[in-house]
Amino acid sequence: MKFIADVMLGSLAKRLRLLGSDVLYDRTLNDNEIIRLSLEQDRVILTRDTGLAARPLAANHLFINCDGALAQVQQVLSAFPASSQPLTRCSECNVPLACLEKRDARDLVPPHVYEAHDEFLQCASCGRIYWKGSHVKRMTMPAGVKQNSRSARTGPAVQKTNENKIR
Ligand SMILES: [Zn+2]
Repeated sequence: MKFIADVMLGSLAKRLRLLGSDVLYDRTLNDNEIIRLSLEQDRVILTRDTGLAARPLAANHLFINCDGALAQVQQVLSAFPASSQPLTRCSECNVPLACLEKRDARDLVPPHVYEAHDEFLQCASCGRIYWKGSHVKRMTMPAGVKQNSRSARTGPAVQKTNENKIR
């Protein structure tokens, strides 16, 4: 199930992405563009806007009537129970995460995290690293790594290796 969230639902969009849902969220989209993308890409519109929800072409929508993001997530998951696959998608970029070999994560996560976890995932777009813990956690690559152009080139190379493994 794919979604498109209106401008009021940015934090819901991020939480749904952490649960694996493909959620398009762009603050610059107006109602007409949201409806067009929903139809073109077969996305359910998530909205708190009664005006948008009332539009005939926006019939494929879920009206979010809860205030808190957690309650909103619950509302979406009750309406679409199959839409949760935790930790498969970057919460910032909406890009599917790729496996990161544990040894490749060694220098990119804090030592206690490296010791405690065996499964790491990385966003190919922004480089954020994700791992499964008692809570869903995430971190960016250390600033020094990001700014170093030599290391920056290592990023895509790691990604390519992982893609090859998946294939
Ligand atoms: Zn990302």
